[in-house]
Amino acid sequence: MSVKLIDGKQIAADVRQEVAERAKALAERTGRRPGLATVLVGEDPASQTYVRMKHKACEEAGIESFSIVMETTATQAEIEKEVDKLAADPRVHGILVQLPLPDHIDTEAVLARVPLEKDVDGFHPMNVGLLARRGCEPHFVPCTPWGCIVLLERSGVPISGKRAVVLGRSNIVGLPMALLLQERNATVTVVHSRTQNPEEIIREADILVAAIGKPEMVKKDMLKPGVAIIDVGINKVDDSSRPRGYRLVGDVDFEQAKEVAGWLTPVPGGVGPMTIAILLENTVKAAEKALQPALKTLLG
Ligand code: NDP
Repeated sequence: MSVKLIDGKQIAADVRQEVAERAKALAERTGRRPGLATVLVGEDPASQTYVRMKHKACEEAGIESFSIVMETTATQAEIEKEVDKLAADPRVHGILVQLPLPDHIDTEAVLARVPLEKDVDGFHPMNVGLLARRGCEPHFVPCTPWGCIVLLERSGVPISGKRAVVLGRSNIVGLPMALLLQERNATVTVVHSRTQNPEEIIREADILVAAIGKPEMVKKDMLKPGVAIIDVGINKVDDSSRPRGYRLVGDVDFEQAKEVAGWLTPVPGGVGPMTIAILLENTVKAAEKALQPALKTLLG
């Protein structure tokens, strides 16, 4: 069986194109553009880069963006006040608090101040609860795991009735991923750092989502032939042949997995591009919902 490589760059470009068309249509009908606000606290270079990329992506999609930048020393009350202001601002349809926040800040308390209907990152505890509860629909789902679902679905990978294994149980990726697969009728096992004999569990997977941050930990002999692999991991490994002195690899040994997998995402160029694409999609969805009354009036 030859592997089908899942082209995350192309699928993300398709999603971004769809988002741009929805944003344009909304602006034509209501005279309002969707708006995304980011809150960045501190000077972490990686966070600064992510925020810059998000603003650039907004611009390309016809989404207005607002930037709040605060000193590392900002207090809990100051950050919450900024979030409250954005919550009340009708130009802002989505609020993204860039994580991690500094150690002295209670992150959960900040995230809980984002109104549910502006929680385009899907990190509000209520949205997480709605995702976990059968028969309920969250306003938004976290971008990376939702991006993984889009990759699977647009690649024609069957989910219902399949054995899915999720490596990792973080709030951002592993946990919501497991819930989303279960909601789509997969039988899901979550593997974490205390799991005994993880290889045995991984070998049963028809769908494997790896999100642990361990370079190339998953090897060929752990895989069931034909497995669909979504590799979320982004790890730097030393490589003196590269100008930067390192290269990026996933949690799965790509070259080995290629020999046995049915579907496989590369790193980079797999899940990575999807996260921002879904953030834009969530923002346009938030704007469509917020402007619905205006649309109804306009359309009669
Ligand atoms: P976290 O560090 O928050 O969580 C890692 C999870 O992996 C934990 O649940 C941990 O278990 C588990 N784990 C760690 N080591 C092992 C092991 N040896 N065997 C089994 N499980 C293990 O990471 P994130 O979820 O935030 O990110 C995971 C990876 O995904 C990282 O490489 C990150 O860079 C990448 N990522 C990529 C994104 C993208 O856009 N492509 C977005 C977000 C993340 P325990 O709970 O027991 O500690």
